Amino acid sequence: MNIILLGPPGAGKGTQAQRLVEERGMVQLSTGDMLRAARTSGTEMGNKVAAVMDAGNLVTDEIVIGLIREQLEGDAVDGGGGNGFIFDGFPRTLAQADALGALLKELDQPLDHVVELQVDDEVLVERIVGRAKEAEAAGQPVRADDNEESLKVRLLAYYKQTSPLIGYYYAKGDLVSVDGLASMDEVAASIKGVLA
Ligand code: AMP
Repeated sequence: MNIILLGPPGAGKGTQAQRLVEERGMVQLSTGDMLRAARTSGTEMGNKVAAVMDAGNLVTDEIVIGLIREQLEGDAVDGGGGNGFIFDGFPRTLAQADALGALLKELDQPLDHVVELQVDDEVLVERIVGRAKEAEAAGQPVRADDNEESLKVRLLAYYKQTSPLIGYYYAKGDLVSVDGLASMDEVAASIKGVLA
């Protein structure tokens, strides 16, 4: 079973993806994590996208589609993918959604559900600023884009470029919306209900 977790920054996609990995043995494919790893290891691509990410803008479709293609093709070759993929933070544009559809078709893989985590903007800002403060207090690194300035850009990018995917997947009959404002356990239970 392959699913997409869709929602604005701070909606809880990463947290819920992690639970699905632990509870169902699914494989999380987070383009944000892949890009951060590329930066840390200082690859040419990582260096190229660093400033774009820090400002809160989206990196090019070509780069993220390439990353996802590598993962899916690699896993397909290894017979991996375990109990399915969770696409977390991808796709984020209509071009990425089309590319993912084509790629899954090529690999003879289904897209089972697109789970939208609905959260209101005020809560997002509080969650993200809170996430940065918690990390700081615990002596952990704070994401360079977890500040109010970048957050505004990230929210705008979400509404301009990513939110059209809600209509796109609704029209395809793949969309299920879940209340992302509920507690972590309640959101996990709602997702479980969708996947059952
Ligand atoms: P995330 O961890 O999903 O919040 O992603 C962090 C940052 O990585 C985003 O603000 C973008 O700059 C970049 N990024 C992650 N995924 C994508 C994507 N699918 N398309 C474009 N940029 C992305």
